[in-house]
Amino acid sequence: MLNFHESHESPLAPIPESELSDEQVLSELHKLKEELKDQVVVLGHHYQQDDVIQFADFTGDSLALAKDAEKLDKPYVMFCGVHFMAETADILTSDEQQVILPDMRAGCSMADMANREDIDRAWDFMNSCTDEKIVPITYINCAASLKAFVGDNGGSICTSSNAEEVIKWAFSQGQKLLFFPDQHLGRNTCAKMGISLDEMVIYNPNMYNGGLKPEQIAKAKVILWYGYCSVHQGFTKAQVDSLKETRPEVNVIVHPECSYEVVQAADDAGSTAYIINKIKDAPAGTKWAVGTEINLVNRLAQKFPDKEIFSLSPYQCLCTTMYRVRPRWLLASFKAIKENKPINIIKVDEQTAASSKVALERMLAIK
Ligand code: SF4
Repeated sequence: MLNFHESHESPLAPIPESELSDEQVLSELHKLKEELKDQVVVLGHHYQQDDVIQFADFTGDSLALAKDAEKLDKPYVMFCGVHFMAETADILTSDEQQVILPDMRAGCSMADMANREDIDRAWDFMNSCTDEKIVPITYINCAASLKAFVGDNGGSICTSSNAEEVIKWAFSQGQKLLFFPDQHLGRNTCAKMGISLDEMVIYNPNMYNGGLKPEQIAKAKVILWYGYCSVHQGFTKAQVDSLKETRPEVNVIVHPECSYEVVQAADDAGSTAYIINKIKDAPAGTKWAVGTEINLVNRLAQKFPDKEIFSLSPYQCLCTTMYRVRPRWLLASFKAIKENKPINIIKVDEQTAASSKVALERMLAIK
């Protein structure tokens, strides 16, 4: 599945180490990783390809990895993931540590769907429509400038694992919720908590005043930003229905970044960690159709051969921006460290990092 939103990218750079074959790249990488093991820790997100994951010292979702980075004292953190994850790691690590994103073009289509200018404009408009207190919550999949926004405006960050607790907290702080950038995680979580769809509205930043009238904002309990993950939005209710009809013995489990219709039709839904644990703990012989990124699904299938595990979608639900982190780029970053001229460093400015940290710490205090 192609990622459609790639506006932040720099022009294509030449492929590094192009004179080397794939085998040579991997062999050099193994040597350099060993040689620099006291200086570099490699973090690999679950959605990375196996040829990259094999070099990871730690694997996990974005927050788990950032927390791993925080605990380590190695001077370089090589983050095999996407841009916003490397930013989160930079916010949580010490000033002496440098976070490296092997390919600077590795972004996230969902994170790109909300920017600070649009959020500031929306915030002013929403607050002009109501006297009730609006609490802003951002999914961790966003730029640091948005994490800073919630930090500065009494809100919090959430992940797909703790969204429910964070939203409960938000309603203890105010009467309305602004949730961005992923409409689906917001809608699915609020619906699970008993908030009706009628109490939710969508703010579309591409339309005047988000396409909403002041009275709609005044009436709504939840304002969802019009953002989504192009990978998870690829799963459809028709795929779930067809499986239920043809193979009723299969359990359908999906990520809450999938649409409301898909989550409602599935047997179960939860974060990446929830999906992994649910399948790990399931009895041998059980069958699972999984609605999340294909690299994770394939890895689960390899790891648990006593269960049948496959993607809910017949199409490749691949995060193409994650895929940009290739072993060649990793090698180029390792070589640069060896030469004492590190490249692709992710640095969040001091003020943004401080405000983002407030929001992150608020979340960690909630759960
Ligand atoms: S899977 Fe979706 S939300 Fe995750 S990094 Fe890729 S585009 Fe972003």
